[in-house]
Amino acid sequence: MYEKYLGVIDSRADLFCGVSDALWDHPEAAYKEYFASDLITKTLEENGFTVVRGLSDIPTSFTATYGSGKPHFGILAEYDALEGMSQVGESTKRESIPGKDCGHGCGHNLFAGGSLAAAFAVKAYIEETGRGSVTLFGCPAEEGGGGKIYMARDGLFADIDSVVSWHPERMNMVRTRPALATRHVEYSFVGTASHAGANPQAGRSALDAVELMNVGANFLREHMDLSCRIHYAILDAGGDAPNMVQSHAKVLYYVRATDSVSAQALTERVNKIAQGAALMTETEVSINVLSGYANLITIPTLQATANEAMHDIPLPVPTEEELAFAAEIQKTIELSEEDRAKPMLADTVLDPVPPKPHGGSTDTADVSWCTPTVQMHVANWAVGTPGHSWQSVSQSKWSFAKRMMLWAGKAVAGTIMRLMENPELVEAAKREHAEKTKAGYMCAIPAGAKPNIPPRP
Ligand SMILES: [Zn+2]
Ligand SMILES: [Zn+2]
Repeated sequence: MYEKYLGVIDSRADLFCGVSDALWDHPEAAYKEYFASDLITKTLEENGFTVVRGLSDIPTSFTATYGSGKPHFGILAEYDALEGMSQVGESTKRESIPGKDCGHGCGHNLFAGGSLAAAFAVKAYIEETGRGSVTLFGCPAEEGGGGKIYMARDGLFADIDSVVSWHPERMNMVRTRPALATRHVEYSFVGTASHAGANPQAGRSALDAVELMNVGANFLREHMDLSCRIHYAILDAGGDAPNMVQSHAKVLYYVRATDSVSAQALTERVNKIAQGAALMTETEVSINVLSGYANLITIPTLQATANEAMHDIPLPVPTEEELAFAAEIQKTIELSEEDRAKPMLADTVLDPVPPKPHGGSTDTADVSWCTPTVQMHVANWAVGTPGHSWQSVSQSKWSFAKRMMLWAGKAVAGTIMRLMENPELVEAAKREHAEKTKAGYMCAIPAGAKPNIPPRP
């Protein structure tokens, strides 16, 4: 079905693969994605989309719209890379690129290229049928910065009937995996410096406060729901001189729970521990909520529609060399014999599995509270490839990953075309969404708070 429109993705494959490769060649970390944002928006503008840049005070965010009126569908694109992940592309061994720090360990170059392709195919459909509109949302800083949270808080998805998205993975399957709500909170302690040998009684240690806070949080684990998670990293230990009472120290916490209300409640308990640590050490603590994501809302009607679209599109077949490459990559990963027997899972679309508990979080969850949202996983990488690894950076430049990226674009576009033609599906998705979001969207970011954007390089 819809071959005529999906064919646009094949006829312009060089354009989409070129964008993906260019992003891979110029990896940029969260909120620094100027090259990516410029290239993608220029490509969209040259092809008849109306582009708006710099939404939610984020210079590298954008929307690109084609068509007008309802139904109005959204597609997400991410394009940030990871620091410290420099790696040679299409290589089967760990080797960084001299002079480069970032790398596309989450495959967001493919994510952007595939979503761009999907937008082009939906545009072809709208041109011919005159139906509705489509917006590609350029979403910066998925890796930690949570660009979509600001966009969700500012109502950018409010007018959208459904959002259809995807992400590089190791298999083809509609996402059923949940994502936990999270709060990212920075605790900064300030004490009094003194000579630790000569005048310890005058000192009040901020580092002691951080240590006591962490002890308290570790005791809290026994008295919280099993589904919750608490992680911390000490960002500032106060200095490197043991003979000094440290007057400043900082610790960053991620507090996760199955929904935003529980994440907020658990964060308030962690806040009390921080205040207790400050009281014990006679230091001062300031508590700063940096970011936080909602839990993911899944919509069965959209999952079924996306599953049907995925089953309908012929899958690309890897060449012998591509299979051999995937098998070589697998040799660098600890795997079960069963997984090693099958380097790629690209030849099939798996039926969605019932959701199992999962400890991760994503800012797509905030979009899912604003409008019915579905995500697909697509087999761009060899079976067993860990996310955020040198192996995933290497494979995100790979010939077969790009063919799967084009397939992902067709799956996203095919889902939207089905929804365009079957308004009852869109209405059913809205009813499911209304039922599941009765509690109301609770954004972790207060109104008016701005993302922490580094200066343009
Ligand atoms: Zn990632
Ligand atoms: Zn990602």
